[in-house]
Amino acid sequence: MESPIAHVVILPFPAQGHIKPMLILAELLTQLAAFKITFLNNEHNHRRIDKSAASRRRINFISIPDGLPPDHPRTGSSVIDLFFTISTASGPYLKNLIASMSQPPTCIICDGIMSFAIDLAAELGIPAITFRTYSATCTWTYFHLQKLIQNGEIPVLEGNEDMDKQISCIPGLENIMRRRDLPHICRLEPENKVLQFYITQTSKMTKASALILNTFEELESPIISHLKSIFPTIYTIGPLHTALKHNTIDTTNGPYNSFSLIKTDKSGLEWLDSQKPNSVLYVSFGSVISLSREQLMEFWYGLVNSGKLFLWAIRPDLVWDENESGQAPEELKMGTRERGRIVGWVAQEEVLAHNAVGGFLTHSGWNSTLESISFGKPMICWPRIADQQVNSMCVSEMWKVGFDMKEICDRSTVEKLVRDLMEGRAEEIVKSTDEIARLAQGSVRDGGSSNRNIKKLIQDIKLLHS
Ligand code: UDP
Repeated sequence: MESPIAHVVILPFPAQGHIKPMLILAELLTQLAAFKITFLNNEHNHRRIDKSAASRRRINFISIPDGLPPDHPRTGSSVIDLFFTISTASGPYLKNLIASMSQPPTCIICDGIMSFAIDLAAELGIPAITFRTYSATCTWTYFHLQKLIQNGEIPVLEGNEDMDKQISCIPGLENIMRRRDLPHICRLEPENKVLQFYITQTSKMTKASALILNTFEELESPIISHLKSIFPTIYTIGPLHTALKHNTIDTTNGPYNSFSLIKTDKSGLEWLDSQKPNSVLYVSFGSVISLSREQLMEFWYGLVNSGKLFLWAIRPDLVWDENESGQAPEELKMGTRERGRIVGWVAQEEVLAHNAVGGFLTHSGWNSTLESISFGKPMICWPRIADQQVNSMCVSEMWKVGFDMKEICDRSTVEKLVRDLMEGRAEEIVKSTDEIARLAQGSVRDGGSSNRNIKKLIQDIKLLHS
């Protein structure tokens, strides 16, 4: 007899910034609808993921091959290698796996850069929904990569004076977006295989029956309207971490859940407890990018010279140099006693929620940006790769919730921006930060836009199952 409960297979791209929002969605689907969830990870992340929380015990985690040798690091920029191995390695495996499932999937929710699963779903007659883990603005920009090539906007040449030229071929972003704000892949030659990978993936996304985005209507409504010309059905259900907090009844693991693949260092939280409200700048550059020793030291001098307190999360592989890789230099750790703390990988949501934190120096990853927005913390952005340039443009030019350093990374700029952000807490920015945080919180409450959309997603999956 057919099960009365829908079965959803969820397939994220194997990186922290993709797994976290898709795992939160999995949690919401089990908590709000009691759906059966099969969550797929490559072996590397399957081993690292925390499966212990109560609701996660209801999610069936399964590992799939990713085509890379076991000793491949799969961290930092080397995750790109997965672009070229994963579909060939996991496609046939996934097909067999689905064929062997006692309850066939009601639908597959796959990452926007794992589009081979959309083809597979079509072959098996299963509906597919694509989840792009970027903002609506960045997703919309990716749909214009071909046009940008045709118009000669790609490649963007770093250091060239044309970097400030405005982009006119992306509806809704005229008069805002400059060449330097384009996604980082636009700095590659048109025939580059990474750029071509994204063009293909983006175009294949359109074969899915609907699009899920971790954003909220009030934040990106004009661009979401543009995207509806491509996807008639869009579920904007973010900020997902806020939605989960709003809906979670079981808080045995505390109010925040980092969904981290890396063990967290809690030592900074106690120190934060002893600081005044809004007095500390939190610094983190996410799970992928690395810094040269020289860049690290520029940030360090900028932070110390600003005279402000800071909490800097330095993950073990953040520092990379040709001659040296790994931990932050020992002298840097020793020298921070008075002004700040250097810690390892933190529970970021807990840090951003802390009232001692008054701002965030970030690489502008989309999860970090949304987390900062929903906790009402203004940002200083230092974007490096992927969607980060687009996000930092939105933060500074569209939403006015922070400053954008773009390519610049010298101690005097860091010092000035930290002072500007933290002293008197830059009035205009604080006002818009508070307002957008309010909208973010409102969107996930009962009746809010994201709350309605997650309920609609659940309803639509139930209809598929009936
Ligand atoms: N994060 C964390 N601890 C840290 C740094 C980051 O838990 O010390 C989390 C952060 O909360 C976010 C994710 O890692 O959810 C990073 O995703 P994002 O999209 O911001 O950047 P990426 O790592 O993909 O570049």
